Amino acid sequence: MKKEIGEIIFKQGDIGDYALLIEKGQVELYHLNKNQQEVKLTVLGEGELLGETALFDSNLRTFNAKALTACEFVVIKKDRLFEKVNTSDKMVQLIVRILLRRLKEVQDTAKATESDKLTDAKKIKFETDVNLAFFNKEFRIYHQPIVNLETGKTVGSEALIRWDNPTLGIVSPVDFVESLESSSMIVPVGYWILEECFKQHAIIAQKANNKDFTICINLSVRQLMHHKFTETLSALSEKYKINPKNFKLETNEKVLAEGALVFEVLKNCQKMGFLISLDDFGTGFASLQYLSLMPINVIKIERSFIKNISKVPRIAAMVDSIIYMAKRMNITIIAQGIETEGECRLLVGMGCKHGQGYLFSKPVDFQSFLNML
Ligand code: C2E
Ligand code: CA
Repeated sequence: MKKEIGEIIFKQGDIGDYALLIEKGQVELYHLNKNQQEVKLTVLGEGELLGETALFDSNLRTFNAKALTACEFVVIKKDRLFEKVNTSDKMVQLIVRILLRRLKEVQDTAKATESDKLTDAKKIKFETDVNLAFFNKEFRIYHQPIVNLETGKTVGSEALIRWDNPTLGIVSPVDFVESLESSSMIVPVGYWILEECFKQHAIIAQKANNKDFTICINLSVRQLMHHKFTETLSALSEKYKINPKNFKLETNEKVLAEGALVFEVLKNCQKMGFLISLDDFGTGFASLQYLSLMPINVIKIERSFIKNISKVPRIAAMVDSIIYMAKRMNITIIAQGIETEGECRLLVGMGCKHGQGYLFSKPVDFQSFLNML
């Protein structure tokens, strides 16, 4: 089934006996208020299910759905689905029934108290705004310099997303990246970030007169698990004729905990020539284990360690050992969150070559970053 931009997919009150799997495009869900004005609920994208409650009950549709972009769907009819389930393996039948029952429980709890609904409504409104921010071109890439601690020269940067909200001003990713992750929006936003970084690299490298300039790019689980991640990364690399060695793809323990699939994707990125950086090293329980499982190229030492490096001797000893170990393993070290000259001196004394932090600069917009070079 296909729908063009703006076409209604179904309306509040319609009888629904099917769900739709979004194969392509974005769908907006909304209510109509007393004045028949649209109140946006959320935006769904590729790989997500729409109207799935129809698979376990015959209720009327409780919201409207329209195509935000040209869409393609796989129609999952309730009867057809159960025909298939009933003729399948007993274990599959059991799993599908349990999953549908859980889905129903989740939907039922969503029908909570009025005050809960109000908080939820605010949350949903914020999430919808975040999702729409992408279509309104409100995201920006800021850069924080990564500095050679001995010479003070900027040798790279970390790309950090910001939301330039028309009323709130610049919004921190701490407040919205999770929303992007919980909807599928982090996937298109993530490709946009890669594309922007590839474009900006050429301009930065020329201004810095440094073809070895590297940009660190943060990646989330959902991005890495997207079925076309490596394919798209490779296509974008060719389109912008980049040298993958100039890009460090940042991942953390939370992402690596997803297991074999993520490892496979990261290894493929490495085969293409990208460098893999392990963010917030030392915060989780399995940092060392991941080092033995993945050929990591870069370790970024967690900010909280650097903050205490001059105050707590045991932390200083630990950071010293991490730097020593990384050298033996031929891994590049970047210290994060350097705020004082004292911290910087200690790190240099330990043999740490690269770092970033407010001592050098906060993350700044692209133009300001160019002016700093
Ligand atoms: P992160 O990857 O750990 O990024 C480092 C954070 O530390 C940044 O916060 C940076 O502004 C902050 N920082 C750097 N130096 C200092 C310092 O000296 N002192 C202090 N107190 N903070 C410092 P920011 O930009 O707010 O980003 C927060 C998090 O949001 C990032 O943590 C990352 O997990 C996520 N994020 C940011 N941009 C992206 C993105 O493009 N994609 C994804 N998936 N996540 C992103
Ligand atoms: Ca990072």
